[in-house]
Amino acid sequence: MVTSKLEQEILARRTFAIISHPDAGKTTITEKLLFFGGAIRDAGTVKGKKSGKFATSDWMEIEKQRGISVTSSVMQFDYNNCRVNILDTPGHSDFSEDTYRTLMAVDSAVMVIDAAKGIEAQTLKLFKVCRMRGIPIFTFINKLDRQGKEPLELMEELEEVLGIQSYAMNWPIGMGKEFLGIYDRYNNRVEQFRTAEEDRFLPLNAEGGLDVQNDMTKTSYYTQALDDIMLLNEAGNPFSEDAIRKGQLTPVFFGSALTNFGVQTFLETYLNFAPQPQPRLTEDEQYIEPTDEQFSGFVFKIQANMNPAHRDRIAFVRIVSGKFERGMSVTLSRTNKSFKVTQSTTFLADDRETVEEAVAGDIIGLYDTGNYQIGDTIVGGKNKFLFEKLPQFTPELFVRVTAKNVMKQKHFHKGINQLVQEGAIQYYKTLHTEDTILGAVGQLQFEVFENRMKNEYNVDVKMEPIGNKIARWIANEEVVKDAMTGPRSMLVNDRFGNKVFLFENEFAMRWFGDKFPEVELYSLL
Ligand code: GDP
Repeated sequence: MVTSKLEQEILARRTFAIISHPDAGKTTITEKLLFFGGAIRDAGTVKGKKSGKFATSDWMEIEKQRGISVTSSVMQFDYNNCRVNILDTPGHSDFSEDTYRTLMAVDSAVMVIDAAKGIEAQTLKLFKVCRMRGIPIFTFINKLDRQGKEPLELMEELEEVLGIQSYAMNWPIGMGKEFLGIYDRYNNRVEQFRTAEEDRFLPLNAEGGLDVQNDMTKTSYYTQALDDIMLLNEAGNPFSEDAIRKGQLTPVFFGSALTNFGVQTFLETYLNFAPQPQPRLTEDEQYIEPTDEQFSGFVFKIQANMNPAHRDRIAFVRIVSGKFERGMSVTLSRTNKSFKVTQSTTFLADDRETVEEAVAGDIIGLYDTGNYQIGDTIVGGKNKFLFEKLPQFTPELFVRVTAKNVMKQKHFHKGINQLVQEGAIQYYKTLHTEDTILGAVGQLQFEVFENRMKNEYNVDVKMEPIGNKIARWIANEEVVKDAMTGPRSMLVNDRFGNKVFLFENEFAMRWFGDKFPEVELYSLL
């Protein structure tokens, strides 16, 4: 049995990712959360001026000052007796399979939506991955200090575009220039916008309204909000903690991250409902419980150092059970090799702070010289097992790749082989000509590939973009014939030898479906 102290530590963990489309306000919210958690002093200081990203130097400075682990990949802070781990899911140009895989390492997700834009493409992609895992999803609708879509319309969008039920935890009173505050259904109070801390919260009376003396009650925004809430009470989904836990219902919070409004209320409510570290399945379908005494974890991301002077990489490990202690002996289940994790163990990114101890729910960064692959299981005791495989994701971008120097074929294939195994990129091969095609979900993966081929395998590669494709696997391969391909579709093998159609666009795929209805196509995640 584990000691109750360890159990308490584990149960206090809350590990989540923030998913959003670029510009919805993820960075701004993260800053505020870190600020409330005491991880940073001034919530305005951590943002790079031009890049719109975290300025690493600032983070490093903060780490030094506070002696905590704050990087743009994993951020940790304590709040209300919880230890919170936020995992970053990069957007835009650094979007990659790693982004998806990060969602395999969290127990819940916070979805940030820009009130004026509603659900955007990247949010939808990331949402689908969370949904597949059935993890709880909490929604923060941001930028209420600006004019946006009607709140009811946004709720409808959640249900229609994402297909998830929603429950409004609070409701905006006005919006944009007329934003007065939020009606907090959960805490039975109104939180007033741009009001000093001490006057910010107004309690609701027994009828669920404000004291009529209050000026806000005379505004049409207030009456409108009460009308909407009546509608929600009557016709909306009922609040159900069980449905939240199963990822079937998302609690929705409104607020404005930039003006720091509604974020703390969100954080506190979120921590009440966010799940503790969850068990994970092994390949033999055994559940490994977080409070199991034996340490175990899996690698969900390998971050290569792009600096040629440092070949090293960091393997990010989600601890599934027990406790990690520096110097402990672990076994890599895939190879059955055991080794001591000593000096090589560091906690994340550039400013290498050594982690001495971490428990289930936490993320540790292990210094890697090429031992780890994505999806690897490591265990710290006698019971050896493999965690369930991480899913493969449907790539959207493809390039045809060759070695610039034909004399380098051997290195070329070795490099590709290893990078594919490691999970950096996906490998495909055309059927007869056996051209090498690489697939990715984000452009960055190709850049990392090119760079690592050069630096680690000494091969210059030529990459010829073949553009966006829709990849579909085939449930009944026996019916597929070469003649089914045309100018707008190509047939390739994946690395396991399965056939895959690459369609130029939705139209080409529909056309194919009409012409060859006997072929059963399916997509991965
Ligand atoms: P990210 O790309 O999702 O990380 O978004 P950022 O946090 O960088 O925010 C994108 C832009 O939206 C920045 O200019 C922010 O200042 C702005 N922003 C974020 N939150 C709010 C908000 O609540 N209200 C307004 N008006 N702007 C916001």
